[in-house]
Amino acid sequence: MSRNPSNAAERRARIDENTKQSPDKHREAAVGGGCGCASVGSQSTGCGTGLGPATASALERIESELRAFELAERQRLGLVPDPAHWSDANPQDFSAEERGKTQLLFGGLTAAHDAILEAGLQSLGYNAKALPYADVEALQTGKEFGNRGQCNPTYFTVGNLVKHLVKMRDVDKISTDDIIRNNAFVTFGACGPCRFGTYVTEYRKALRDSGFPGFRVMALSQEGPQDDIGGTATAIDTNLQFYVVVLKGLMAGDIINLLGYRNRPYEIEAGATDAAIKESIEAVRNAFLEGRSILRAMSQVRRAFAKVKVNRLQPKPKVAIIGEFWAMTTEGDGNYRLQRFLEEEGAECDIQIITAWALYIIWTLSYDIRESTMLRRRKGEIDRFEGLAPRRGILFAWLGGRAMKLVFGTFAKLGGLKGYKLPNMKEIAALAHEYYPNQLRGGEGHMEVGKVIQTAKKKKDHMIISVKPFGCMPSSGVSDGVQSLVSARFPEVEFLPIETTGDSAVNAYSRIQMALFRARAKAHAEFQDALKATGLTIEEAARRVEGKSSLSQALNYPGHKVTGTAANVVYELG
Ligand code: SF4
Repeated sequence: MSRNPSNAAERRARIDENTKQSPDKHREAAVGGGCGCASVGSQSTGCGTGLGPATASALERIESELRAFELAERQRLGLVPDPAHWSDANPQDFSAEERGKTQLLFGGLTAAHDAILEAGLQSLGYNAKALPYADVEALQTGKEFGNRGQCNPTYFTVGNLVKHLVKMRDVDKISTDDIIRNNAFVTFGACGPCRFGTYVTEYRKALRDSGFPGFRVMALSQEGPQDDIGGTATAIDTNLQFYVVVLKGLMAGDIINLLGYRNRPYEIEAGATDAAIKESIEAVRNAFLEGRSILRAMSQVRRAFAKVKVNRLQPKPKVAIIGEFWAMTTEGDGNYRLQRFLEEEGAECDIQIITAWALYIIWTLSYDIRESTMLRRRKGEIDRFEGLAPRRGILFAWLGGRAMKLVFGTFAKLGGLKGYKLPNMKEIAALAHEYYPNQLRGGEGHMEVGKVIQTAKKKKDHMIISVKPFGCMPSSGVSDGVQSLVSARFPEVEFLPIETTGDSAVNAYSRIQMALFRARAKAHAEFQDALKATGLTIEEAARRVEGKSSLSQALNYPGHKVTGTAANVVYELG
């Protein structure tokens, strides 16, 4: 609605004109009360406008109609600020009786992890359901209902939940009341320091604004049950058994993924690796659901991958995918389906696993306890880090780390994952420390920096892609800031940070293709060097592989001498 002053002046002139032409009307209006100024007959004491009372009254009425119209339009367009401040009601009621019938939604990891965790939680009596991948539609939904200025993973994950509930309501025709009553969302959270600390509030805000007020969101702390953020004091029993099931599921998922990424680029029969992954996931899921041993299920994983035949004598660039945790882990639109794109472009992906993240969390616990014991306290002040408590804490962290490595090692051995070494957190911290203080948290902390230096020193990958979500605070500081210096000091590393906004895949793909060109050249040169060093021709190498059937099996992976897998196979043959 235009509030143009010239229009108002025109209106006023027209009214004056009308008034001049109808003196009787003017008088009637004045007698009828007019603008509210005291008036006697046709004499007005004036309202200070210099206009007659009828004119002033008409103007006032028009102005008031305009104001009402403007307000109505602003309300219609959602431009009227709500004076009532939003507060998070934080509904958490989830009783033990509801455990079996309330559907617990979760998701956000890889396909293998989500499917396995679903079965793991069901084995504990929860009616768990993994959400489908977060796609671009989820991102748009998140942006529609989320606060401004959030990071991309927030929009993707929050939007994915809202999108799912909207589908339940609009497509499956489940009433909103039933959706709110019979479903809840469970996720991991933290107290910060980046936007990860606000995820839970974001979920609730978006759920309210999208028509699901009161939908329950329960956050488990990634640091363990003692720090649970809310809701878990109810029917989600975060006891040792719960965490053991979750960790076993995560490790099994990690091993299946590692086997998949090692083999898909080299498979002889297209689709054989995906079939083995599917069979492996089913084996682990069934073990959880039927209460059978996960160790036996891991043996089934090995048997599933043993069927895949590979030809590793193809020099391919090995590309590490690092960066923000969710963005580097997801296999959906959140990173432009990066892993599949790299494989289609002829690369082998070196992925980061979730067990490594768990080891980092354990490392931070232990490190923080040590640091806290150095703090000077006021006289007589006692805190939880006094006395034997720090040593106990460090011991528990150490034991937790050891147990995790032991279980992972056992699963890996049974699953047929040979030669994989879990990252050494102390080493990564020491490598990164000069460039990024170990005390800084948020995102991957110092890990991204440490991994790049480690790659340079150990020749682990031909290229590193750091996935940096749009709006991510820690990633921006690391990928755009600190890594510039690291890349300058280690120029042998092909480091490529890509920002994922969710809607510019073509830009990201084209930058990756350019960097891959150089990485591919390195892989080929390295392969030729290996042939030269061993005196083999490619035909002779192929003959030797054919002569030893185990070398074309997916479970066989060459030891690390140089970066490329094909070159390493040649060194093993030579
Ligand atoms: S690390 Fe970055 S992308 Fe991830 S939650 Fe924090 S701010 Fe968001």
